[in-house]
Amino acid sequence: TESCLSEIDAADALGAFVHKTPEIALEQAKAADARIKAGDAPAMCGIPLGIKDLFCTKGVASQAASGILEGFTPEYESTVSQNLFDNGAVMLGKLNMDEFAMGSSNETSVYGNAVNPWKVDDRQLTPGGSSGGSASAVAADLCLAATGTDTGGSIRQPAAFTGITGLKPTYGRCSRWGVVAFASSLDQAGPMTKSVRDAAIMLQAMAGHDPKDSTSADFPLPDFEAALTGDIKGKKIGIPKEYRMDGMPAEIEKLWQDGAAMLRDAGAEIVDITLPHTKYALPAYYVIAPAEASSNLARYDGVRYGHRAKLAAGDGIDQMYEKTRAEGFGPEVQRRVMIGTYVLSAGFYDAYYNRARKVRALIKRDFDTVFADGIDAILTPATPSPAFGLGEMTDADPVEMYLNDVFTVTVNLAGLPGISVPAGMSAEGLPLGLQLIGRPWAEDDLLNTAYALE
Ligand code: GLN
Repeated sequence: TESCLSEIDAADALGAFVHKTPEIALEQAKAADARIKAGDAPAMCGIPLGIKDLFCTKGVASQAASGILEGFTPEYESTVSQNLFDNGAVMLGKLNMDEFAMGSSNETSVYGNAVNPWKVDDRQLTPGGSSGGSASAVAADLCLAATGTDTGGSIRQPAAFTGITGLKPTYGRCSRWGVVAFASSLDQAGPMTKSVRDAAIMLQAMAGHDPKDSTSADFPLPDFEAALTGDIKGKKIGIPKEYRMDGMPAEIEKLWQDGAAMLRDAGAEIVDITLPHTKYALPAYYVIAPAEASSNLARYDGVRYGHRAKLAAGDGIDQMYEKTRAEGFGPEVQRRVMIGTYVLSAGFYDAYYNRARKVRALIKRDFDTVFADGIDAILTPATPSPAFGLGEMTDADPVEMYLNDVFTVTVNLAGLPGISVPAGMSAEGLPLGLQLIGRPWAEDDLLNTAYALE
């Protein structure tokens, strides 16, 4: 813990930690030492972690990297972080992210962007987003692991961009209680770690049923670490042809083929599959996620949390709401609220929101069909490119940024578990990730397949 704290202080330029909590960390580390001495040391005992700023942490600023939550210090601890602390984990501080987890580059944060520790010459690169601070901190060895959240790829894409492992569990595996809501039917917390084994151990501590989240599942937790046998003989791995996008860089195509060959060499059977509704996933996601966000973000009204605008004489409550929200929300969040309220409005609800919900059901059915046909896991690239330069995408059409999520959003729409594992290097020497998508509630199997790829 002490060495992580000094690494963190030396790495301010990465912008990974937005809030350091050395007193809490040292106190928790002392308690962990005592548990170890007493012979009562659970798996995460004494492991120093970073916590994404989206998690509410008791007595510690939790702003979801937004100006509107300025000064907000929760009175309660999120279930996931509490589970980790009960398991002996240590909190080093809060990690940078895109505002309300909306973004793919960590550039929408009120704190400014986090930086990828990987560089090409002097070009500064994004660590990805929205869990960019988590990815940057783990990749730069500022902590041993970090929490992330994934609504459309926010664990898997930054993991791929920084050469670490990121697991988005099945929807309902981890409690969402105390995690600031972005799109409630898609959001899921998960581990961001240095290895598949670490992801298995950390998921074990994070996951579980929580009566405070009605969507958290009351299913038994498999022993995730025990599942890591490396034996994948006879497993059927699907390669979905719809993920072979036009203009896919040759190095991504090669990475994908090499990954399939590796799994074949380990005894798996590689099968061509079809997920026919894949091309509608991105448009459906960018209707459903903003719709849910616009509703979730209605609570930031200047009364209950954080920031309130200064009012002029004669201003009433409407002006208070308008000014607070105009000042407190950044441009990407405002864009999402506008898209969301538009697609939910009486005149457009059927044309957009309802249509997107139907498409979502079709995407889910595509996956159900291939799993019913005996496919155990699906292999795809995690991202369409390696990490891009900071600022490179922000001036472009926002849709350019949304295209980054092309391989990851299907998994959230279908509620499935997905993992990104480092699998190779780009020509420029940047990490590339492969994604494995698993059957619902089969993270044990998924982790084991990822283990064979690692
Ligand atoms: N990039 C996607 C978005 O901006 C996904 C973000 C996430 O998974 N939180 O909505």
